[in-house]
Amino acid sequence: MIEIENVHKSFGDLKVLDNVSLTVKKGEVVSIIGGSGSGKSTLLMCINGLEPIQSGSIRVDGIEVHAKGTDINKLRTKIGIVFQQWNAFPHLTVLENVTLAPRKVLKKSKAEADAIGRKQLEHVGLGDKLDVYPSKLSGGQQQRMAIARALAMEPQYMLFDEVTSALDPQLVGEVLDTMRLLAKEGMTMILVTHEMAFAREVSDRVAFFKSGKMHEIGTPEQIFGNPQRPETAQFLASVL
Ligand code: ADP
Ligand code: MG
Repeated sequence: MIEIENVHKSFGDLKVLDNVSLTVKKGEVVSIIGGSGSGKSTLLMCINGLEPIQSGSIRVDGIEVHAKGTDINKLRTKIGIVFQQWNAFPHLTVLENVTLAPRKVLKKSKAEADAIGRKQLEHVGLGDKLDVYPSKLSGGQQQRMAIARALAMEPQYMLFDEVTSALDPQLVGEVLDTMRLLAKEGMTMILVTHEMAFAREVSDRVAFFKSGKMHEIGTPEQIFGNPQRPETAQFLASVL
C-alpha cells in the first residue's frame, strides 16, 4: 500500500504540494486530475523518491521513502513509472531496451530477462516487435514498450504520468487498452491523466488537484457526477 500523509513540498518559495494525504491500497486504481501546474507530476516523483519533500511522510509497503536509511534504489524496483515520453535507446532492439534494467539492476541472466521481456511485450501487444528498433514503432507502440519496460521489473505499483498526452488521437486508444488490461488484472496504479472518460471508467477513486492541494477525492461517480467542491466542478466544466 502507498500511504501519503500531510506532505508538503516546495521548489524554493513555490509551494507545490500543500498538505497532501492519500492512501492507495493494493489493487486500487486512483486517478489524479487537475490543471497544468497543480502538482500532479511532482506527487508521482515524490512517491518514487525522485524528489525530496519538506515535511510529512510517504510510505510504500511500510517503508518510509524519504527516510535516511531507506534503500531508495531497492524501493524503486517496486514502483514502475511511465512518463509522457520515454526515449528508448535507439541502437537497442525493443527486447533489449525492455530487458536492460532487469539485467543491470535485478542482475537477471540474459535468458531469464529475455523470458520476462518477451512475456511483458506480449502482454502489451508487442510480441511481434521484439527484434525491431524503437524508431520503427509508432508513438502508441513506443508508449506500450515503455509500459512493458516498467513491467519487466515486476513492480508492485505502477505510476503513469499523462502517458497518452503526446500521442496523436488515433494512437491513444491502444495505450489506454493496455492500461485498462493492467487495471483489470489487479495492478495497483496511480495515474495522472487528461482522459476523463478513461479515468471515470477504470478508477476506483479520482482525486482532484489544484495549486498543490487535493481539493476532493471520491469515486468516479462522486467526482464526475456530483462534485462537492466548486473548484472541481469548475475544472470539469472546463475540460468536459
Ligand atoms: P502538473 O504535473 O500538475 O502539471 P507539476 O508537478 O509538474 O504540475 O508542477 C507543479 C509546479 O511546480 C509548477 O508550478 C511547476 O512549474 C513547478 N515545478 C515543477 N518541477 C519543478 C522544478 N524541478 N523546479 C522548480 N519548479 C518546478
Ligand atoms: Mg505533469
